[in-house]
Amino acid sequence: MSKRALPRKRPVLLLVTLFLVLGFLGTTLVSYQVSRKAIRESILTQELPLTSDNVYSEILKDLVRPLFVGSMMASNTFLRDWVLEGERDKSQLMRYLSEVMVRYGAFTSFFVSDKSRNYYHPSGVVKQVNQLENRDAWYYRVRAMRDPYEINVDPDLANRDLLTIFINYRVNDFDGNFIGATGVGLTVDAVRTAISHHQERFGRRISFVDLQGRILLSADDAGQKENNIHFIEGLRELAPTILSQKTGSYEYELYGKTRLLNVRYIQELKWFLFVEKTEDSALVGIRRTLYVNLAVCFAVTILVVCITGLALTRYQRRMEEMATRDKLTGLLNRQTLDVLFQQAISLALRANEPLVVILADLDHFKAVNDKYGHMVGDQVLKLTAASLRQQLRSSDTVCRWGGEEFLMILKNCDADAGAALSEKLRAALVDDPELSALVPGGISASFGVTQLIPGECVETLVGRADTALYAAKQAGRNCVKTA
Ligand code: GH3
Ligand code: MG
Ligand code: MG
Repeated sequence: MSKRALPRKRPVLLLVTLFLVLGFLGTTLVSYQVSRKAIRESILTQELPLTSDNVYSEILKDLVRPLFVGSMMASNTFLRDWVLEGERDKSQLMRYLSEVMVRYGAFTSFFVSDKSRNYYHPSGVVKQVNQLENRDAWYYRVRAMRDPYEINVDPDLANRDLLTIFINYRVNDFDGNFIGATGVGLTVDAVRTAISHHQERFGRRISFVDLQGRILLSADDAGQKENNIHFIEGLRELAPTILSQKTGSYEYELYGKTRLLNVRYIQELKWFLFVEKTEDSALVGIRRTLYVNLAVCFAVTILVVCITGLALTRYQRRMEEMATRDKLTGLLNRQTLDVLFQQAISLALRANEPLVVILADLDHFKAVNDKYGHMVGDQVLKLTAASLRQQLRSSDTVCRWGGEEFLMILKNCDADAGAALSEKLRAALVDDPELSALVPGGISASFGVTQLIPGECVETLVGRADTALYAAKQAGRNCVKTA
């Protein structure tokens, strides 16, 4: 069998590596993507809405009460009567505003009369509102609006211009005519602390956005950087959808990072609550798993390739051996000998050295088979081969020529030496204790010896050895004849 019929190692190993790498990489990446998708789903559909719920209920506690207080003030009959009666005793209103502020823990409380344009505060008349003044714009806005109230973040002129959330309510007389604006204010700091507390607790960014997209409140200073979602990279495109759809889940890219966003419209405040989280922070865990998996896959690939390589090497060696050796005796087979024979003859001729061929045939082997069975016959062949091998030099070649015929090539050896060696081989077989134990009476063989005549072909040489062997058989077997 030629080497070409054997599986070639390198392409097989390359193929195995390719399959493993593709298989592992495929499954690892697919499972990473699946986990990533599941994590994003759970952030968008569970985590963020849940945080939003929590923040909503907490913040609402802080903001809704002032709303109720404002609503109560706007419908207060004392306030309305006092205005309609001509705003006479200012101390009465100051007492009322002061009572509301203290009682409900507001930061400030106020009333602006539409008739006198006086801005009343628990401490007295602070100023008169003026349409031309920018900071009084809120009043004219409230005066003109249809809704009963608005929530506004502004500096409080009555309180050292501290940033304040105002709840501005329209006050109407008993016929529904506008007579002024009232309400309370609370410091932004209180709400911001609450947001910041939530942000730390849940690890999400929380902010409030009004209907125009202005970011009113967030834990980091609100108005500092981009204060409108229309100006924030990535959010810009989403802004119209967010502001019109009011509630939903979104994702956008900011500074190259994916942000997952939950938006909830708070009817009571007319504000949007934004709760967001970067995708990266959520993927840290599965990223690590991905790297570990890839490392394991890499190691397994190397291991499998090594094992496959070793197995292939062993398999190839075995295949080669099977192709060159006789299975029963372990001697070279006749096909291999054909090649070696030519080489040995060429070398002998070139070195001008003699070369001897010995052909040996077991005597009455058919009878051994018939009498003791094929298994014993096989055993005899094995022991004979071992005995011959043992007597020969390592440079000598011995092969199983046929059923129970053995051919030996002896280098640098002439016919006389060949005959002497054959005699030794013959005696060793007869005296072999194992063979004698196997076959009562022992085993013998006949030997034909001949020397190479320069110029002759292999067939002629072997034919002459065969003739010598025939002569030995004729001479009564168990003997050596030289041709
Ligand atoms: P002779 O002394 O004339 O050589 O007699 P022989 O019985 O040895 O005659 P022959 O060479 O014709 O017989 C060879 C026998 O060897 C025939 C065959 O059954 C047997 N034989 C050939 N190969 C094997 C083998 O692999 N195993 C066994 N058990 N027997 C084999
Ligand atoms: Mg024979
Ligand atoms: Mg025989």
